[in-house]
Amino acid sequence: TRRMQLPDNRPPAEGQPLVRTHLTPAGRVTDIFVGIYHQGRFLGTLGLGINPNPALVRSTQLAREVSIGVFLAVWVLAILGAVVNALTITYPIKELVKGVQEITKGNFKQRIDLPFGGELAQLIDSFNEMAERLQSYEEQNIEELAAAKAKLETLVFSIVDAAILLDAELRVLLLNPAASRMFGWEGDPVLGKPLPELLPEDLQQQLARPLMQIARGDQEAEEVRVNLTGPTKRVIRILLSPVSDPRRQNLKGIVMTVQDITREAELNEAKAQFISNISHELRTPLFSIKSFIETLYEYGEQMSSAERLDYLEIANRETDRLTRLVNDVLDLSRLESGKQYHFEGVDISAVIEQTLRTHHLQARDKGIQLRKFVDPDLPLVWGNYDLLLQVMTNLLGNALKFTPSGGLVTVHAHLVVQADGSPQAVRVAVADTGIGIAPEDQERIFDRFFRVENRVHTLEGTGLGLAIVRNILEKHRTRICLESKLEQGSTFWFDLHLYTEEGPLEFEVQPAETDPPSCAWREHSHQR
Ligand code: ADP
Repeated sequence: TRRMQLPDNRPPAEGQPLVRTHLTPAGRVTDIFVGIYHQGRFLGTLGLGINPNPALVRSTQLAREVSIGVFLAVWVLAILGAVVNALTITYPIKELVKGVQEITKGNFKQRIDLPFGGELAQLIDSFNEMAERLQSYEEQNIEELAAAKAKLETLVFSIVDAAILLDAELRVLLLNPAASRMFGWEGDPVLGKPLPELLPEDLQQQLARPLMQIARGDQEAEEVRVNLTGPTKRVIRILLSPVSDPRRQNLKGIVMTVQDITREAELNEAKAQFISNISHELRTPLFSIKSFIETLYEYGEQMSSAERLDYLEIANRETDRLTRLVNDVLDLSRLESGKQYHFEGVDISAVIEQTLRTHHLQARDKGIQLRKFVDPDLPLVWGNYDLLLQVMTNLLGNALKFTPSGGLVTVHAHLVVQADGSPQAVRVAVADTGIGIAPEDQERIFDRFFRVENRVHTLEGTGLGLAIVRNILEKHRTRICLESKLEQGSTFWFDLHLYTEEGPLEFEVQPAETDPPSCAWREHSHQR
């Protein structure tokens, strides 16, 4: 429908097609002319006219627009998908991973709180439930552990023996108050320090070898007895035991328990001393009795009757001494054995009266004045008549023994009243104007076998009389007191509790603030 025309009516050159676009009333058209040649000879021109096809053009445009649209849509969808994915899957999974990591670290309080539904919600719920269970198990375990720890600590902290726990490098891990007291560490930060550095030097030396042996695993447990020198001389027993892991392969530490056995050691020594003293005391009169009887037996016929009588008298006197000694020892051991005595209301003036009667002659023979000052109508005291009689006999016997002729011995008993005037006790005293007791001896005379005259002079006696007195008075919940001056005389006194219907007194004898320092009571002898 269109006439095509070669531009300039010139055929196009070989291999160079001609393209021309120009406007026609029907729209923009494109003509292509290709020269046809054969072996360099021009044959003609092929003209190709392309008319504009609105439908075709439109469809091409549409195809391009659709492609761009699809391309853009795919991108938008991809980005949207990524965002939705990040929000709905990646974030909660990240939170879960964080939560699991926290739980692994032991933080069982971790929870996840995200508003999701479906399977993710189930996963989050399961996680939270698991965390809750773990937390409650942990709390329960912690409570049980804390209770077990508290029990152990109470046990370790309340035992009287010192206890120290060391690690394998001998550093202090734990110690109880008794240990701090025993080694004088109160207030010092000793935890974590190596034990050998903390101990006094002598102890350090004595413990070095056993500690090393246990630390090396050469020894199972070891007991060491140590005499501590220094201001307070003490004897301690140390028990070292290794602490291994349950399979007994590795040493975890060492437990060291320390007992103060000073008192035990003292008692052992006192026992040994007592036995040695008593054998000595028994041997002396026995030896003398035996030698006098032997002499009488062998040479009796050659002796005058006066000599024989004299020898017999000496043997008799020695037998008396032996009897007295044996009786005293038995009395004392019975008193110390914890035997129960019957206590009741005792009229102390009757006890005093009986004692004075038995010593009356002895006093007169020695030229000593014996007088009594006893308040009339004294109330009954709580006591045992026979034991109180023994106390008075021993005290009066001593007073007469240690007072020279011409002296005065007095026995007193009077009521002690409280500040408000009510009766408190009956005070009994035996005073003499005898040789007196030096201050340094005043405490020790109450010990068994202690006799001043062992050093100074010899007079009959066993050295047990005052030990018996002290013991009996302790049974009466009271103590013996002494005031004495050398060459001037001595006064022994004690207070007896008033008898009441309420029954025996159940308290320990304690030193009273008003007591003079010379009052002997059990602790005195223990402290020395
Ligand atoms: P003994 O059997 O030797 O008298 P005691 O235990 O009764 O034993 O007394 C111990 C020591 O106390 C006596 O050996 C004596 O040295 C001293 N003693 C006791 N009573 C008196 C006293 N009244 N005057 C001086 N010394 C005394």
